[in-house]
Amino acid sequence: MSAVSNIYPTAALQAVDAAHHIHPFTDTKALNEEGTRIITHADGVWLTDSNGNRILDGMAGLWCVQVGHGRQEIADAVHKQMSELSYYNTFFKTSHPPVIALSEKLAELAPAHMNRVFYCSSGSEANDTVFRMVRHYWDQMGQPDKKVIIGRWNGYHGSTLAGTSLGGMKGMHEQGDLPVPGVRHIDQPYWYGEGGDMSPEDFGIHVARTLEKAIDEIGEDKVAAFIAEPIQGAGGVIIPPETYWPEVKRILSERNILFVADEVICGFGRLGTWFGSDYYGLEPDLMPIAKGLTSGYLPMGGVMVSDRVAEGLINKGGEFYHGYTYSGHPACAAAALANLEIIQREKLVERVRDDIGPYLQKSWTALGDHPLVGEARMTGLMGAMELVPEKGNRQKAFADKGSVGTLCRDISFQNGMVMRAVGDSMIISPPLVLSHEEADQLVTIARKTLDETYTELKRIGTL
Ligand SMILES: *Cc1c(COP(=O)(O)O)cnc(C)c1O
Repeated sequence: MSAVSNIYPTAALQAVDAAHHIHPFTDTKALNEEGTRIITHADGVWLTDSNGNRILDGMAGLWCVQVGHGRQEIADAVHKQMSELSYYNTFFKTSHPPVIALSEKLAELAPAHMNRVFYCSSGSEANDTVFRMVRHYWDQMGQPDKKVIIGRWNGYHGSTLAGTSLGGMKGMHEQGDLPVPGVRHIDQPYWYGEGGDMSPEDFGIHVARTLEKAIDEIGEDKVAAFIAEPIQGAGGVIIPPETYWPEVKRILSERNILFVADEVICGFGRLGTWFGSDYYGLEPDLMPIAKGLTSGYLPMGGVMVSDRVAEGLINKGGEFYHGYTYSGHPACAAAALANLEIIQREKLVERVRDDIGPYLQKSWTALGDHPLVGEARMTGLMGAMELVPEKGNRQKAFADKGSVGTLCRDISFQNGMVMRAVGDSMIISPPLVLSHEEADQLVTIARKTLDETYTELKRIGTL
């Protein structure tokens, strides 16, 4: 056995973790004082920690564990692949059976006009690839002035230089003097927080037209691409008003720029369709994918490429000087294939669309009646609740932004469920295999957590 099984007391593990491990997106000093929670096992939608607590994984890891934890058949597929061919590259005019089979499968699942995939190991790398690919495409097409990429404030496209730059997280930009030159940001379709007096429908049109304005200001001949998540995930499950995507589509159809749909979260069934682009009827030129591609069993990402982009990228000839040692890694490809096989066999996409999706949406949105909740929303199995100091008043937020969300998240953990906080908004994105009974448990814990958060806020005088 080479797996690291836990034989140590929790405090000993926490001490070593604090001494040697720097955590991502974490105030490491504060965490080291508090101590990490050590997760030792997981099965289905349940995590187990080193003290034996069972915790409902309301976030599917980090939006990625579509098929649930502990699927032996994925472990077996990876084991078998590693015994046959654990690694070889795809640079030297070489390929291998798992990456070939996966490419064919992805072309089958993606929208009809997308038939090729470029591989990497994460969503961030996928967006770094996008950054270079769109610029290279326009060079190849003889339009080298088309370089600017338009993203959105509060969008998330990963944490590397390109990912951070394309994304619109101001806190991330401040660290490292980003974005890099050649990126512009427009407003997000966040009606609850930024819609003012407008109706959601009017606001959707209004924000979509900021794209039109930005393209026309910069000059269509200088704009390479627009990148957006079909539904923003890390930004707080921002579900756009129904008018938004049709208007964006109109604007894009009248202008010659590439459209990049970042499918890293929405892809692989999260919205009850294979891709978020299917849900909204979008026709992207590029689709970054990762997360649900392997359900997190191994790291893998990619960029799906449309036939139009292939025209410039491939058919014009010439080498694209880009790639990663682990592009198309055989063990990761085997994990992805086994994962997609489960999603298809168990009809998880249809299940989200017709069964567990509508079931959870009903009881989740009903949490909107709680005095602490301004709005509860959910599409597919992606949901959010806005915690607010004054119900019915969208203009009013908590003074110390994020502290109420953090409190609620901590109480939820104590109550046996992972809910994530984005500012003062609570987020869930459970595995697609969630049962009805588990969905009921999820909502019961969420309500109990809201009650206890409310009581605590009264006690400390925040409310
Ligand atoms: C998570 C995420 C990324 C980054 O993926 P990593 O694998 O963490 O690098 C990119 N885009 C979106 C929409 C994401 O949610």
